[in-house]
Amino acid sequence: MRSWQVFQASEVLREVEETTPRPVGGEVVVSVSHCGLCHSDITLWKGVFDMGDKKVSIDSIGMKHPLTLGHEILGTVAAIGPDVTDVKVGERRLVYPWLGCGECETCRAGRENLCMQGRPLGMRRPGGFGSHVVVPASRYLIDTGDLDPALAATYACSGLTAYSAIAKAMPARSDEAIVVVGAGGLGLSGIVILKALGHENIVVVDVSEEKLKTAMGAGAHKAVLSTGEDVTKKIVDAVGRPVRTIIDFVNNSETVAFSFPALARGGRIIMVGMFGGQFTIPTMRMAQGGLSLIGSITGSLQELRDLVDLARTGRLAAIPYEAVPKSEINDAMARLHKGAVKGRIVLQEDIA
Ligand SMILES: [Zn+2]
Ligand SMILES: [Zn+2]
Repeated sequence: MRSWQVFQASEVLREVEETTPRPVGGEVVVSVSHCGLCHSDITLWKGVFDMGDKKVSIDSIGMKHPLTLGHEILGTVAAIGPDVTDVKVGERRLVYPWLGCGECETCRAGRENLCMQGRPLGMRRPGGFGSHVVVPASRYLIDTGDLDPALAATYACSGLTAYSAIAKAMPARSDEAIVVVGAGGLGLSGIVILKALGHENIVVVDVSEEKLKTAMGAGAHKAVLSTGEDVTKKIVDAVGRPVRTIIDFVNNSETVAFSFPALARGGRIIMVGMFGGQFTIPTMRMAQGGLSLIGSITGSLQELRDLVDLARTGRLAAIPYEAVPKSEINDAMARLHKGAVKGRIVLQEDIA
């Protein structure tokens, strides 16, 4: 097999030839045909997380170079361990990458993505920047049927992240306003998922007129430009009343500062974005308003299965993506780093 690996933070990825692993026990080896590029790949490549109040290096949390990144993985089963009975060689599958220990309370409750000992593919285990990936058990594999494989690959992180955030906002009446902050890739995924679920009152907020236009094209019902003063008032005016649900796909100091005062009693902000920042919480208002601030990261295996089922109904609109040969990975990483990418980049083995 060959992999593109990070040997040192912020250095170009090096192509490495290794022996293709053989699956043991319940393992499955997947030959990677598609792998989406995620902003987290850029963060891991640079090797430092901005936590808002401090910076944390990946070395300090036990991640060792060389790293084979890539967690939006789709491919065909190349080999199965002797205990695997439910997939066959040659079958195409999407891979759930957010693997937990499988044994703790959190994992047993079906929230492996929140496991304290989590070992996600493309982070703490080799991921989709290799030609082959070892998946520890077949239950992490999802049949995507006739879905476009490049698009389906992106469901493993960007789609799932948006889906899980929306799941935390449910149940909600279809005509109740849901405010979506951020009309970038995640925000757009959020809008098309809300539409597919039959939601009819989506208010999108962004600093860019152009992104708001794209969001309206994707099915948002109202747009609020979040520049200048009084963004809170603009949001409340657009909704017609204080807001019960805000999903913040940016989640920096500014967006939370204008969202928080827009909440109705019983309101909640679902905090998803990783732009970093800080916010001082007025404790009395939290209690008196019965408010909730809910963090959301990636999603569960069941949520990914539910998202794929939703996509397979045909109701989920496609988000824009660009197919790039895997051999051009360094160029693709550099473009994503500079922000010069419209939609998602999906690395493909089968194009040159
Ligand atoms: Zn990701
Ligand atoms: Zn666990």
